[in-house]
Amino acid sequence: MGLIDRATLLANLERVEARVAAACARAGRTRDTVQIVAVTKRHPPELVRLAWEAGLRHVGENYAQELRDKHEALSDCAGLRWHAIGPVQPKNAKYVAKAAHVFHALERLEVAQELSRRRTGGVLPCFVEVNVEGEASKAGLTTESVRPFLESVRALPNLEVVGLMTMPPFTENPEMVRPAFRRLAALAKELGLSQLSMGTTGDFEVAIEEGATHVRIGTALFGERPE
Ligand SMILES: *Cc1c(COP(=O)(O)O)cnc(C)c1O
Repeated sequence: MGLIDRATLLANLERVEARVAAACARAGRTRDTVQIVAVTKRHPPELVRLAWEAGLRHVGENYAQELRDKHEALSDCAGLRWHAIGPVQPKNAKYVAKAAHVFHALERLEVAQELSRRRTGGVLPCFVEVNVEGEASKAGLTTESVRPFLESVRALPNLEVVGLMTMPPFTENPEMVRPAFRRLAALAKELGLSQLSMGTTGDFEVAIEEGATHVRIGTALFGERPE
């Protein structure tokens, strides 16, 4: 699959920006309360460079080794901030600790411990991933286990939990996931956490209406991912 060209990316970005701005307006929020994390997983490093040239500064990667490699390949892109958005194995946490500016998928104490141990040069802001719907096959903590998990993580140096993240099942109709986003927002409020990482290509507008501070958008910006 060929790389998306610059003109297409700029047009996609403009459309996504307009939709984000409209969702903010509907929700009575200012545009600067929502961060777009451009999800570049499985795309080559050249695509990340193209995104950076287009003005995008926050990019999202799912796989720890891919994050490590791209972080290294693109070290000359000033101001680029790497968001690790997928769950990680304890043995790969070192790559996230080194390369990530933000981690969106904290769900295991073992990983938190490893990140804490390996992190140097500044606190790593983390989102705790929650499986709001309680689906068996999904990553994330159950809603009941978030509070005790937070208490354990708070004892660890070099990490700070700043919010909650969720990845609801894909549905054709984004209204179907609104209740999940609403539940995540309520839980974050209850726990005194101010940030919410929720919403992807299929449902980012609904997520913004329900309070998302970070939307993780891949396909709407870059087209289909390579296999
Ligand atoms: C792939 C992925 C995204 C982006 O999905 P799109 O539908 O391409 O926008 C967002 N969040 C996570 C955790 C992902 O794995």
